[in-house]
Amino acid sequence: MQHVSVIGSGTMGNGIAHTFAQYGFDVSLVDTQPAALERAIVTIHANLDRQIKKEILTDDEKGRTLARIRTYTDLNDGVRNADLVVEAATENESIKVTIFKELDRLCPGHTVLATNTSSISITKIASATQRPDRVIGMHFMNPVPVMKLVEVIKGYLTSSDTTDMITTLSRKLDKVPVEVNDYPGFVANRILMPMINEAIYALYEGVSDAEAIDNVMKLGMAHPMGPLELADFIGLDVCLSILRVLHEGFGNPKYAPCPLLVNMVSAGRLGKKTGFGFYTY
Ligand code: NAD
Repeated sequence: MQHVSVIGSGTMGNGIAHTFAQYGFDVSLVDTQPAALERAIVTIHANLDRQIKKEILTDDEKGRTLARIRTYTDLNDGVRNADLVVEAATENESIKVTIFKELDRLCPGHTVLATNTSSISITKIASATQRPDRVIGMHFMNPVPVMKLVEVIKGYLTSSDTTDMITTLSRKLDKVPVEVNDYPGFVANRILMPMINEAIYALYEGVSDAEAIDNVMKLGMAHPMGPLELADFIGLDVCLSILRVLHEGFGNPKYAPCPLLVNMVSAGRLGKKTGFGFYTY
């Protein structure tokens, strides 16, 4: 197990590529948008510099990490030698199903296909392939080089060999794997997103302003970031997609996305990545 292909080089893809490369794996980073690949490499440089400042890495290790990452716009070129694929493309079921059909066709038979999805059914994604036993959720947290958790999500047909491989691999990356079953939002987002949605409702209903809402949760509950700041950091489009999966998957109105969130996403105010969300960046 040496070669990892990461599909999608946005917020999560660059961190996943960075982490695998830092721990000695050869990484192919694939995105349909050349500009996204360029931005990813700039971000990886900056984050490696941050690790050097914190004395986590040396200059030499930075050089070796960068040398292990290659970028591709063509999926076929990017996954040809993959032992493992970690898909981190846009949170949209039809995009992921299309990618997994292609991956199944293009990858060697032994390749394990993992998805970093926050909420979409692993079982559904796996059913687009002829290898559902080798499809699994490998859900990293943002920012990937810093956060310890990997939520390992077993689809209905995921084999125990695949689960064991991903948990062992997560430990090699100095992460802590937690196994969960495949239900909407898994564990992390089933709990996090209703809290974020409620914070947006509190703002929408004028209970308080964004800073006050975040301060209550930071100072009162010892959260390192307030829920609105965290929503900006995750991406408001990603939050909305996850809430829709929870709402549809459980059929429970308690998950209905706040109309303010829907409006902000329609207006292109997606949080930190676009410069505007609940805060201005
Ligand atoms: P993002 O919007 O920042 O990046 C997505 C990237 O995927 C874009 O660069 C886009 O060009 C690329 N892409 C779209 N279709 C593609 C295709 N067919 N082939 C290759 N690349 C393609 O999204 P993100 O926040 O990095 O999220 C990626 C995945 O990670 C989603 O499934 C999301 O739910 C999950 N996730 C996100 C966070 C977070 O905090 N943002 C945390 C954990 C998991």
